[in-house]
Amino acid sequence: MPDPVPAIELRGISKAFGPVQANKDISLRVMPGTIHGIIGENGAGKSTLMSILYGFYRADRGEILINGRPTAIPDSQAAIRAGIGMVFQHFKLVENFTVLENVILGVEDGPLLRPSLAKARAELKALAEEYELEVDPDAIIEDIGVGLQQRVEILKALYRKADILILDEPTGVLTPAEADHLFRILRNLQAQGKTIILITHKLREIMEITDRVSVMRRGEMVAHFRTAETSPPELAEAMVGRKVLLEVDKTPARPGAPVLEVENLRVVDAKGVERLRGISFRLHAGEILGIAGVAGNGQSELLEVLGGTMKATGSVRLKGQALDISGNALGRARRDSGIAHVPEDRQTRGLILDFAAWENVALGYHHRPAYGSGTRLDLAAMQADARDKMQRFDVRPPDPFLAAKSFSGGNQQKIVVAREIESAPDLLLIGQPTRGVDIGAIEFIHKQIVSLRDRGCAILLVSVELDEILSLSDRIAVMFDGRIMGEREAARTDARELGLLMAGVADTAAGRAA
Ligand code: ADP
Ligand code: MG
Repeated sequence: MPDPVPAIELRGISKAFGPVQANKDISLRVMPGTIHGIIGENGAGKSTLMSILYGFYRADRGEILINGRPTAIPDSQAAIRAGIGMVFQHFKLVENFTVLENVILGVEDGPLLRPSLAKARAELKALAEEYELEVDPDAIIEDIGVGLQQRVEILKALYRKADILILDEPTGVLTPAEADHLFRILRNLQAQGKTIILITHKLREIMEITDRVSVMRRGEMVAHFRTAETSPPELAEAMVGRKVLLEVDKTPARPGAPVLEVENLRVVDAKGVERLRGISFRLHAGEILGIAGVAGNGQSELLEVLGGTMKATGSVRLKGQALDISGNALGRARRDSGIAHVPEDRQTRGLILDFAAWENVALGYHHRPAYGSGTRLDLAAMQADARDKMQRFDVRPPDPFLAAKSFSGGNQQKIVVAREIESAPDLLLIGQPTRGVDIGAIEFIHKQIVSLRDRGCAILLVSVELDEILSLSDRIAVMFDGRIMGEREAARTDARELGLLMAGVADTAAGRAA
């Protein structure tokens, strides 16, 4: 039997933005009825390539064939006519319109030809039932969560009769349960004969759902695989261009004395809602305690209380001394007592984006003796120190005079991590350490965290990435609805058990560790 004609074929696509060659001579064949993954690190050129396919950008060179026919796609209307639908990384919905209005928006050809709302409503209902895409047609977009907004984007594409659906990093904004649901939707779409292109930088998603996968690196298409015939290490190596350690290499912890003792911590927010409902745990020197949970179950509040910026009741002791949890503790007092903090949101809390890298490397620590004495700061020493730390933490480029905002997200994170780890804390609070960070940099940051642990630091790790929690932690506590649902030794649990606790299924096992 001859090979079927590809649903999409790209030949020699190139695209530059000024000096940046975002796509270089890209070729790609996507077979009909398959789920085809495109994987690559941040900046590899994935979104640019898909934007060309959707008529958002014009390629400088190259050819697009849809179902074997050369097709010009000068704008998104042409893409829609060619049967292509796109779910963008940042949704393009009208916030104060209803679901139904958003779905039909732009399809009506002027007021007289407007399809009757009733007809559109019926069609939407049929689509929703066919593909498990339930959503209330009369809900206002801004009132529904991101998971539902994404379903509206998919419905919009299907309503426009898309046969080929492109999803750009669709799970970045989803909880694990929402991501599972999305994958069920994608499988339903595939079963109905749709072709799907899934852009992601997550190896697990590629392995779980795709039939084939193409790898991009620095603007080039570097490899194609059948998913069943490849493996995460092989894909990671293709993405990064060198071997990458996916498993964190660490020896069993040797916990020392308790560093942090938290008793019955409670937080009530401005609306009177209880966000922490009696949290208690202990964390020892030389140990990583991972806090797992779906975002929004109190983990952020816990970090803020310990970081000193949120008021709580209960008691927190650091090395036996009571810690101020009035919410007014000064950052400097926290740092002087031996607490370092890599906040969840590095852009607003961890860095001053307009300041140079060297100023950010010293941020909060400029009173330390290494930087001069009294009121006189030794700027040259601060700059040399920043250069040294940036080199050791592989910040690219290692130029202390560049503004923080000119670094990529992963490199900004390395700047914050370098500053906090190098402060030699007794306790490190670290929230979402690798959010938006490339695989190569993740490996590096994980190594630094483990090596800090091995020097005796107590580490409280908060992450919504269950894989990260499982590979880094020595002990794991799962938060749900402001409580700790259960605690496990990392070596004696797995994603399935933790997933149940994350969903709020009560912990029946007796006793909590430590
Ligand atoms: P990915 O989606 O794989 O993360 P992108 O396609 O967004 O990568 O970006 C590829 C490269 O092109 C990056 O270096 C990015 O900074 C650059 N780039 C993307 N869009 C633009 C644009 N509109 N103007 C200038 N540079 C851009
Ligand atoms: Mg992108």
